Amino acid sequence: MISIRDADFFYRKGEFRLRMARFDVAKGEKAAVIGPSGSGKTTLLNLIAGILTPTRGVVRVGETDVSRLTDRLRRDFRITNIGFVFQDFELLDYLNVLDNILHPYRITGALKLDKGVRDRASNLTREMGIGDKQKRFANDLSQGEKQRVAICRALLPQPKLILADEATGNLDPVNKTLILDLLFRSVDDHGATLLAVTHDHELLNRFDRVVDFQDFSRGGPA
Ligand code: ADP
Ligand code: MG
Repeated sequence: MISIRDADFFYRKGEFRLRMARFDVAKGEKAAVIGPSGSGKTTLLNLIAGILTPTRGVVRVGETDVSRLTDRLRRDFRITNIGFVFQDFELLDYLNVLDNILHPYRITGALKLDKGVRDRASNLTREMGIGDKQKRFANDLSQGEKQRVAICRALLPQPKLILADEATGNLDPVNKTLILDLLFRSVDDHGATLLAVTHDHELLNRFDRVVDFQDFSRGGPA
């Protein structure tokens, strides 16, 4: 599902450089990424999502080489195929919970917003324990609630690939289990693939594979 070959990336400013000879995540796999802060985990997810493009090499998602798409196509590709739970949520403060979750449908013609989608969005908020907050502005939510909105938004289009950047980092233990169950169930139900960055070592046994990011700086795992 994800296939990276000979990728090289650096930010315009600063020293950081990410080199990846080879990185693969199989279709249907649930992989966790661990590694110290600043090691490049978020950068990796952004490269896979096509938010960043490598200076060299190939980043393929499914059959698509995301690094070769034009900006517009890359954005449409991301919105329709990838559910991204951002580390900092990236909610729009001036929209309420439901409108935040539906937002991807409003910014691309590639997703179609109909009653079925609205009902599904509503159901997701209930499953996530924020059903009573659908009309609340994102600004007026706790961190944990914002996180759950971000997860709902990522899951709603039933993407084939879910990228989750420390998606349970702001949740109490009960909600963490609940949300993780939902995330995993959604992945299983849709035959999706999950790549999740986590600092939470308790959760690692739930994944098929754990990728230690420090391996990459030592030349990269096969
Ligand atoms: P992680 O998610 O593992 O904590 P990041 O991928 O966010 O790491 O960051 C990797 C490195 O790249 C860090 O040293 C960070 O300071 C740097 N970095 C992140 N974003 C930018 C940016 N926009 N411009 C320059 N450097 C950046
Ligand atoms: Mg990060």
